[in-house]
Amino acid sequence: MTARIQVLQGDITQLEVDVIVNAANPSLMGGGGVDGAIHRAAGPALEEACALVRQQQGTCPPGHAVITQAGNLKAKAVIHTVGPVWKGGDAHEASLLEEAYRNSLQLALDNGYQSVAFPAISTGVYGYPKPAAAEIAFHTVERFLTFHRTPEKVWFVCFDDENARLYKRLLSQQGDAA
Ligand code: ADP
Repeated sequence: MTARIQVLQGDITQLEVDVIVNAANPSLMGGGGVDGAIHRAAGPALEEACALVRQQQGTCPPGHAVITQAGNLKAKAVIHTVGPVWKGGDAHEASLLEEAYRNSLQLALDNGYQSVAFPAISTGVYGYPKPAAAEIAFHTVERFLTFHRTPEKVWFVCFDDENARLYKRLLSQQGDAA
């Protein structure tokens, strides 16, 4: 079980995994942060794929996820999920963040993908406090993997030092509460 979750610090766009998860915005138009980095690295094919999704099903609300091809990335697919904007904690932020992780994992499972890399969704421009977001991310993934054999492996890719420290601590404490 332990080996199914991995933490690393770096740029998610460089990973050779089946699926990279994007912290998207509802328009799926690309933007700043990890979203911008993924769109830049993937090239115009990703933008076109997102435009098609938008045309077919409109915007992607917080907590939801959609899957597209990955353009020039080494990954096979990109799952775009929209995290909640932090509004102080009383606007269902925690359950929306949990849904974003769970729906992304479910999409990976539905498509038979075995390795998935997540950024720290909502902890940049969307302002979610990093310690609370890391707890939700880690425990939601841990729970999902307990019930499903696919995906086999999940990477938490931390860009900044604070997230790297938080996730490494969660990883080292894994199973303590069991
Ligand atoms: P959100 O709008 O969901 O807050 P952001 O992209 O602003 O999304 O930030 C989400 C997290 O992604 C932040 O913790 C940020 O440090 C991280 N991040 C930014 N660029 C990258 C990257 N290239 N690879 C992995 N994580 C990244």
